[in-house]
Amino acid sequence: MPTATLSPTAVPEAVLPASARRLRAEVRAFLDEERARGTVLGRPDSWLAGWDPDFSHRLAERGWVGMALPVEYGGAGRGFLERYVVIEELLAAGAPVSAHWVSDRQAGPSVLQHGTEEQRRFFLPRIAAGECFFSIGMSEKSSGSDLASVRTRAERIDGGWRLTGTKMWTGGAHVNDYAIVLARTDEAEDRHAGLSQFIVDLRAPGVRIEPIHLMSGEHRFNACHLAGVEVPEGMLLGRQGDGWRQVTGELAFERSGPERYLSTFPLLVSLLRELDRRAATAEQAFQVGLLTARLHGIRRLSLGVAGALDAGTSPDTQAALVKDLGTRLEGALVDTVRGILPTPADPEATPGSHAELLAFALLHSPGYTLRGGTNEILRGIITRGLEQNR
Ligand SMILES: Cc1cc2nc3c(=O)[nH]c(=O)nc-3n(C[C@H](O)[C@H](O)[C@H](O)COP(=O)(O)OP(=O)(O)OC[C@H]3O[C@@H](n4cnc5c(N)ncnc54)[C@H](O)[C@@H]3O)c2cc1C
Repeated sequence: MPTATLSPTAVPEAVLPASARRLRAEVRAFLDEERARGTVLGRPDSWLAGWDPDFSHRLAERGWVGMALPVEYGGAGRGFLERYVVIEELLAAGAPVSAHWVSDRQAGPSVLQHGTEEQRRFFLPRIAAGECFFSIGMSEKSSGSDLASVRTRAERIDGGWRLTGTKMWTGGAHVNDYAIVLARTDEAEDRHAGLSQFIVDLRAPGVRIEPIHLMSGEHRFNACHLAGVEVPEGMLLGRQGDGWRQVTGELAFERSGPERYLSTFPLLVSLLRELDRRAATAEQAFQVGLLTARLHGIRRLSLGVAGALDAGTSPDTQAALVKDLGTRLEGALVDTVRGILPTPADPEATPGSHAELLAFALLHSPGYTLRGGTNEILRGIITRGLEQNR
């Protein structure tokens, strides 16, 4: 885990390890097999919307879930750069990775860093086996950007804690096993103190999951009501009162990965197929060139952040930059495709057709710049980082 903060103005560069080329070829061969089975459908936003636990399990059998977790806990003991290669291939292919996404990206590393030995031995092998899926229980109705204002409370009871409150936008809570919930354990003058993280069993008595449907009608999110849910002492994650430090310490990982600029990449692939079927005009080719150039630049920065994390530094400002630039590109890609091809978006069109994929990406668009911290908040972080460095 990172120890030093990288200078906010440094532009990190990363060179993929020699093993990456072979790994990429292995992932592509696996994806070809999966395409033949009909599981990889080239859909946009597959890390939010592609829930397929069997696919996650098959990926885990190859050592590609929990890749960076140590071997002694069931992981593959490989670095962030190798993990990067695997996930960029999966996202570019629009593979259904949402079942294990949070466990792999966040819950596993978090349990490894902050968890007790007992928690590590219980959760990490299950995560790496693609058998234990997590949700993020941070946001609440009036606590999104202002996360420190969360009102979910955890009171001490004999042998553990009792949690009461409502978490909002809890992705996958209706299908996942656990959520890492941020709750207030102490009334401190400093709002950032007195918060703690808990691992909550989503099937425990007192948990009620209420669907929140997307504009497309899909059920991906929930309101997660916790009505006096009893959480055993052993499910406090990290130290009591350290919740804020733990949550913010993970942000560079959460914000800088390829999922922050590749959510709509399968639509670009679809566009290229469409243009291939007709003769592309000079304007269409120019617009595709612009998108590709932006994509290339953001990928380079994102890869550099992964390299810096691998080297043990924390590139917080650069990670925020990746997410701001990347999520804006995700939306711009949808707008460009709509602007340069006459095909209208149609959610009722044949699944996988350009019109249907366009409708899907379009209906998911409002979320790109909101999830994981809005772009306005990110720009505040970037500005503060640059100011401090003046
Ligand atoms: C697709 C998607 C998936 C999500 N998944 C999860 C999940 O699994 N678990 C979870 O806990 N949460 C999840 N979220 C919630 C997400 O983290 C919040 O939506 C996000 O943090 C913004 O919070 P909010 O919705 O309360 O908006 P607000 O914080 O109310 O913000 C509203 C608007 O005001 C702006 N704003 C707020 N404060 C400032 C400021 N200080 N300066 C300038 N502008 C400001 C924001 O940028 C935004 O445009 C998800 C959200 C989306 C869209």
